Amino acid sequence: MAFFPTFETIIGHDSNISGMCAAIKVGKPGHSHLFHGPKGVGKAATALAFAQVLLCKDREEGSAKSCGVCSSCKKIEGGQHPDFTLVEMLEDKTRITVEQIRELSAFLSLTPMESQWKIALIDDGAQMNISASNALLKTLEEPPDQSILIINSSRPGLLLPTIRSRCTKTRFSGLRDEELFEIVGKIVKSSSEDIKQAVAMSGGDVAQAVGLCESGLGEERQRFLRDIEEIGSVNLSRTCSIAEYWSTAARFATMLLLLKAWFQEQIRGSVESDGGGESTRNWLSLVQWADDIMRQAMVVNLNRRLVLESVFIKLARLRGAKF
Ligand SMILES: [Zn+2]
Repeated sequence: MAFFPTFETIIGHDSNISGMCAAIKVGKPGHSHLFHGPKGVGKAATALAFAQVLLCKDREEGSAKSCGVCSSCKKIEGGQHPDFTLVEMLEDKTRITVEQIRELSAFLSLTPMESQWKIALIDDGAQMNISASNALLKTLEEPPDQSILIINSSRPGLLLPTIRSRCTKTRFSGLRDEELFEIVGKIVKSSSEDIKQAVAMSGGDVAQAVGLCESGLGEERQRFLRDIEEIGSVNLSRTCSIAEYWSTAARFATMLLLLKAWFQEQIRGSVESDGGGESTRNWLSLVQWADDIMRQAMVVNLNRRLVLESVFIKLARLRGAKF
């Protein structure tokens, strides 16, 4: 990992981190944790930092600071510490499966190889299917002495109540734009203008903002603004070819974020010019409809090109096009 989080470098979540540090210092880090809060605010980063401190070989007694240089710290940074495991949804699956949870339970029941603890992180716990959740309950009911389980979730309401009630809950709050800006700036090398734009479009999600910067937001945004400006003044065939350009999987996600931010600007502009009259109502109804259909396109497998065509055609008509 190019940038490995530590308690000292994580931005925000100060009271959560000091609570964890206090528990580590007295040697009682707790067996089962639920880190919950908005997506992309640093729950996984905090869990990794927590694990690194607990597994560090050169940590001073009574301290909650990982040394960052011992073999253990290096292994967790490289994603290959034998006493740490990360369970997340596999690429070809739609949920975290019972087999993954059984492996996790077996892992936690083994004697640690290089440290005092076996630590597992489930990210995101709400992705467990029902048999996986039931399998996890057994481990939560009788956690092995040396085990620490951290479940991350931005949707804790979807976890079984019996799982929630057996965990120590730590709530993560959303980050302020300045905090996001600082975090993203440490990870990517984009210009501050691009980072600012990515943060504004990210909905508070660090990974989303980083992804936007890495996908060449600057150039894509210029192209988007040129394309969207044309819609309404060009013919149907050009409108469809713009939709086609933005319909590849990689561009589509960026497009949604750019379009969402652009729509918000249009609504603001419209409210300023007609005080919330007919034009604003037309924009609001287009945006609501477009939001719905594009969200569906991300979840179920709708044809992205057709979705974008229909959004652009409605936009063109709103701007007076006659097709
Ligand atoms: Zn260390």
